[in-house]
Amino acid sequence: MANRTVDLVVIGGGIHGCSAALHAALRGLEVVVLEKDTVARHASGVNAGGVRRLGRDYPEVPISQRSMEIWHRIEELVDDDCGFQRAPQIKVAETEADFEALKARAAHLRAMGFEHEIVLERSELREHLPAVAEHCVGGLASLDDGFALPYQTTFAFQRKARSLGVRFEENCRARKVERVGADFRVSTDRGVFTSRKLLNCSGAWAGEIARQLGEYAPVAATAPMMLVTSRMPRFCTAVVGNETRPLSFKQMQNGTVVIGGGRRGRPNPETNASELIFSELRQTAATAIAVFPIMKGATIVRSWAGIEGRMPDGIPVISPSATEEGAYHAFGFSSHGFQLGPGVGEIMGELIATGRTNAPIAPFSITRFAPGADASGSSLTHAQGHSA
Ligand SMILES: Cc1cc2nc3c(=O)[nH]c(=O)nc-3n(C[C@H](O)[C@H](O)[C@H](O)COP(=O)(O)OP(=O)(O)OC[C@H]3O[C@@H](n4cnc5c(N)ncnc54)[C@H](O)[C@@H]3O)c2cc1C
Repeated sequence: MANRTVDLVVIGGGIHGCSAALHAALRGLEVVVLEKDTVARHASGVNAGGVRRLGRDYPEVPISQRSMEIWHRIEELVDDDCGFQRAPQIKVAETEADFEALKARAAHLRAMGFEHEIVLERSELREHLPAVAEHCVGGLASLDDGFALPYQTTFAFQRKARSLGVRFEENCRARKVERVGADFRVSTDRGVFTSRKLLNCSGAWAGEIARQLGEYAPVAATAPMMLVTSRMPRFCTAVVGNETRPLSFKQMQNGTVVIGGGRRGRPNPETNASELIFSELRQTAATAIAVFPIMKGATIVRSWAGIEGRMPDGIPVISPSATEEGAYHAFGFSSHGFQLGPGVGEIMGELIATGRTNAPIAPFSITRFAPGADASGSSLTHAQGHSA
């Protein structure tokens, strides 16, 4: 069955597809979202919920800042608080060398004009984290960051988008994408959809859609892992990372501790399965115990992994297509795209509706992977890869 031509087809019902659809609808576009499984089924539903500006790759800082402004008034946008809670995000230094690196980063950001990351000396670190291990020498904090509930958030974006007329087609995989005259034609198991504009928000699967548009995007499927403990007495109100060892650590209000931070299992994007690697999870637990000795003997009650798209340089593709006018991409968020969802959706809505944006998205161009392109894609210095 052929559908009538709409303004925009979005491929992918994660937070980025839902957010971009919402922002496009707010600008008056008629939008259809195609989701091969169900909305929020993948990374956007199962992530750690970290809403973090701290430690962003430098090119991401301005869009992360913009996204944070939206998070602080998220209920006004989606009529739902998304479970968002303000909390400091703190990166702990276990050695003097790590502390020096954190101080250098804060200085670099100040030179860029950003003041949100502040250095915490040893005693200040303990004011925020009374349970932190004795050997930790200092930290870097972004005090007005926080965390939110992933399913609640992604469904809130979907619900608001739907209330503005966006159509969601679930269990509807985009199999073939092609240009027919001025329009795009997307063939699915459940019919053909035609649109004037096309947005690829298909996460770990986005490389195939890009390929069909004639573009190379080496997005790899990865499987970041999480674990959660039984309830513990309250000892931590911040979200905690580590300068050198992968860690994302937070205690929920009910006392459970949610730990992740980048150690990865085995993804299988063909079957949607992801397999835990327990030797890696053990290292996550060891890092948590090293930073918070109170965690020794904690009971792990559950662990899981989600499938996430990762780019070789650890930053996403947020870009118009270089081959097909009217096509756009937002994918490859490399384990830190949840926080960016509200802001990148706003950027894509503007770009698609008006053809332009002032947002600094040049470093995220899909052309950085074209044969012969400078692999870094920009002259900006990237910080080391961070996740979650
Ligand atoms: C365990 C874990 C912890 C994380 N922790 C954090 C964190 O604390 N903070 C943070 O900021 N980020 C975190 N992330 C990263 C974050 O979850 C992702 O970057 C973000 O959710 C990506 O959103 P997305 O919409 O691009 O992708 P997805 O949520 O993967 O959505 C893409 C959707 O596209 C659909 N799709 C693919 N191909 C097709 C097709 N051909 N047709 C139709 N539909 C298609 C898929 O089924 C999928 O639902 C974490 C990720 C994981 C896995």
